[in-house]
Amino acid sequence: MDREKIGRYREIRREYRSGYINVNPIQRGGILSEAARKALLEFGDGYSICDFCPPKEARLDAIKRPPVAEFMENLAQFLGMDVARVTTRCRESKFIAFRMLCKPGDYVVVDSLAHYSTYLAAELAMLKVKEAAHQGPPEYRITPEAYAKQIEEVEKEAGRPPAAALLTHVDSTYGNLVDPKPIAEICHEHGVPLILNAAYTAGVMPVDGGKLQVDILAGSGHKSWAASAPTGILALKGEWAEKVLARSSLRGEWTGRSFPNKEVALLGCTVMGAPLATLIASFPHVVERVQRWDEEVRKAQYLVEQLERIEGVRQLGVKPKQHTLIYVESEGFYRVSKTHKRRGFFLYEELRDRGIVGVQPGLTRHFKLNTYGLSWEEVKHVAEAFQEIARKYGLSVH
Ligand SMILES: *Cc1c(COP(=O)(O)O)cnc(C)c1O
Repeated sequence: MDREKIGRYREIRREYRSGYINVNPIQRGGILSEAARKALLEFGDGYSICDFCPPKEARLDAIKRPPVAEFMENLAQFLGMDVARVTTRCRESKFIAFRMLCKPGDYVVVDSLAHYSTYLAAELAMLKVKEAAHQGPPEYRITPEAYAKQIEEVEKEAGRPPAAALLTHVDSTYGNLVDPKPIAEICHEHGVPLILNAAYTAGVMPVDGGKLQVDILAGSGHKSWAASAPTGILALKGEWAEKVLARSSLRGEWTGRSFPNKEVALLGCTVMGAPLATLIASFPHVVERVQRWDEEVRKAQYLVEQLERIEGVRQLGVKPKQHTLIYVESEGFYRVSKTHKRRGFFLYEELRDRGIVGVQPGLTRHFKLNTYGLSWEEVKHVAEAFQEIARKYGLSVH
């Protein structure tokens, strides 16, 4: 180990923290509120949440100072669910749900646009996956019929329905918003609980799990709740809470020790410090910001309109946009990259020179961006930057 080199760790910096518009889809909803930035410092030390952990319950969700218990109640209410817990990530919430609802070898049905972490969560829980197929291009819609088909397929194959189904509320590729309700109805007809992956929705747009009839909801604090990583949300309807949050029943065979208060799937406690503090501190901001969702969608629709004025550029996925994550296909910029000396990197570099980052370096033919939380001025700047770059390389803008 080179001590001089590790000395530089003391000055780790984030290159794009400020001064740039970051349109990377995963970055928009996790920008801290002012309150959360303060809480981050206040609770930076180790187990900072645990100073007043009540000795009797000895569990994160029972802590009253700071008001963790009260926060979790409000969180459940905000999501139209009965019980809420904070986990480390959306993927952990999905894993916990799969692990506790299913037995190894069981089937789960998931949409074919599910996040990779959905597949890994199922794999770690030792499950088999059936995919409810999306429809063809250019919209790639997920339909209730596809769920019905796969649930029936599992019934035929395994002699019983899948142990659970999961729907990605907004997928991370096309940014398509799917209505969970008709899918929940089909699941329930077959006695299958529905898990909603709300990583890209809860925390940025209004989500009422009760109205949507979902049984379990998984969310991501660092993606959509103006919180630091790692934070995830697991919200449940009462009947499923007992099963998913089952308490420990093990007894040490020599000591006789037991832990009947601890929730097994959470391994007792989850986020015990700064990230949870940011999630709590941002909650008032989040409760308020979801009310402005319509305006956020209008900004996304405006950007699509402006991008599609460029030769060879079109938005894929459902139209018009109902979410701020935009998937762009751009044969025009791709053609430019073929002969540019910087190849596919030219687009990233041209955007960076205009104060915009987050379009993945090297990509031109297909890329994603997210307008969530940008001001109108910033959205207009992004639109103009793309059009300016297009003109510079001889693409027409009509
Ligand atoms: C980002 C994302 C995730 C992962 O969220 P984590 O909190 O990082 O686990 C899961 N699913 C979808 C649909 C996502 O977009």
